Amino acid sequence: RTAICLFTRDLRVHDNPVLQHAARADRVVPLFVLDEAVLRRSAPNRTAFLLDCLRDLRGSLRALDAGLVLRAGAPATEVARLVEEVGASEVHVAADVSAYAQVRENNLRQALTDCALLVHDAVVTAHPPGHLVPSGKDHFAVFTPYFRRWSATPLRPIAAMPEALRTPRLRTGKLPTREELCPGELSPKLPPGGETAGRDLVRRWYAEGVADYGDLDGATSRLSPYLHFGCVSPIELIDQAGDAEPERAFVRQLAWRDFHHQVLAARPTAGHRDYRPRGSRWREDPEAFQAWREGRTGIPIVDAGMRQLATEGWMHNRTRMITASFLTKTLHLDWRLGAQHFLNLLVDGDIANNNMNWQWMAGTGTDTRPNRVLNPCRQAQRYDPEGTYIRRHLPELADLPTRALHDPNRMEPEQRVARGYPPPIVDVTEANAHSRTAR
Ligand code: FAD
Repeated sequence: RTAICLFTRDLRVHDNPVLQHAARADRVVPLFVLDEAVLRRSAPNRTAFLLDCLRDLRGSLRALDAGLVLRAGAPATEVARLVEEVGASEVHVAADVSAYAQVRENNLRQALTDCALLVHDAVVTAHPPGHLVPSGKDHFAVFTPYFRRWSATPLRPIAAMPEALRTPRLRTGKLPTREELCPGELSPKLPPGGETAGRDLVRRWYAEGVADYGDLDGATSRLSPYLHFGCVSPIELIDQAGDAEPERAFVRQLAWRDFHHQVLAARPTAGHRDYRPRGSRWREDPEAFQAWREGRTGIPIVDAGMRQLATEGWMHNRTRMITASFLTKTLHLDWRLGAQHFLNLLVDGDIANNNMNWQWMAGTGTDTRPNRVLNPCRQAQRYDPEGTYIRRHLPELADLPTRALHDPNRMEPEQRVARGYPPPIVDVTEANAHSRTAR
């Protein structure tokens, strides 16, 4: 019996049920398909991180006596070709939720006529979408009851890593270089990809980081890209968390991740259409959108977030919320514009977390208080009280007093001009008054 282990968003050898099940066959062929349709849409930042992940996975598989076969093209065609070549009777793959992942699975099913397709749950998320549902419904639309059920439901056992893999001799294919695969511009400060880097980060996080969890000035895990590509297992992360409050708060965030995945799995159109249509009327204002994208709105906390995104391909959750609220509820621009810009840069960018969070902020998603609006000045005072975050990402303002960083109305015009920093593109208080419950 020969099995193909098709890696997708599960680029790890630890706690990987796909690999574990495939390894029970007499021979196993680990495969990754550089999927043209995904790469066309993928941000250069994500593609660069993916290449790191594949290099690392290849090394880990080598330590198990196996090679990682690389093919490029449409997954269904490439998998069917390899099935023929090695005489495989089964293909193992992880279940995934986006509309595209569901199409991929259907295409695989159709292409594999004499070969079983085995789809494994709880690889990408801790609890599989569709397993936890309220009675009579196909998904939870509100987080709190979901979280109650999520916390009370046992996780699957951790999958053992195979000791060694028996693989047929095959040409594995060369890993493309960054230049070959991501011709676009990369953010200058990208994290290194791969399971080895991810597991190191987890160790450091639990040993040193989690105790200060939550601060805008740095203290979150930064595990999101590793979770996105499956370099670390959400189940292992939950399993290793202790009972202290910061660790519980961290695990709750992992439940948010599962929550958005189960919404998208049940409503794949929510990736691009309003989950709860509210007849929103978005303005068109290309200049304001451009200023937001470039981090030149004249509102320091918004601009600091947008500059962090451009430089690191990552942004702190608090500034993701502030910048998204600013785009949709202060500038009244369509959430899809903002979501797409984030997807163009985020190393952790995925439709479930990104687009469902954007909808949450825009008031078209699962927020039970869809009218809430964030006031960026008050948010800056509360979450960046010393202005450390703003100073780090807007070095041109570093010498200004903190009150001027929190509230652009307290910045003197000549201070702005001297630093080449723009005046606010909008009167936040007035613009937010259009949206009802300004906080
Ligand atoms: P930590 O605070 O250390 O949290 C641990 C993990 O929990 C994260 O790695 C992530 O997997 C998960 N998590 C945390 N917060 C959320 C959340 N609100 N929703 C879902 N999962 C969460 N996250 C993405 O992974 N990809 C995205 O494309 C993405 N886009 C976002 C867009 C907007 C407008 C907003 C408001 C949030 C978005 N998030 C996204 C969620 C969140 O901002 C990031 O997951 C988080 O900032 C990643 O940093 P971290 O790993 O240090 O998080």
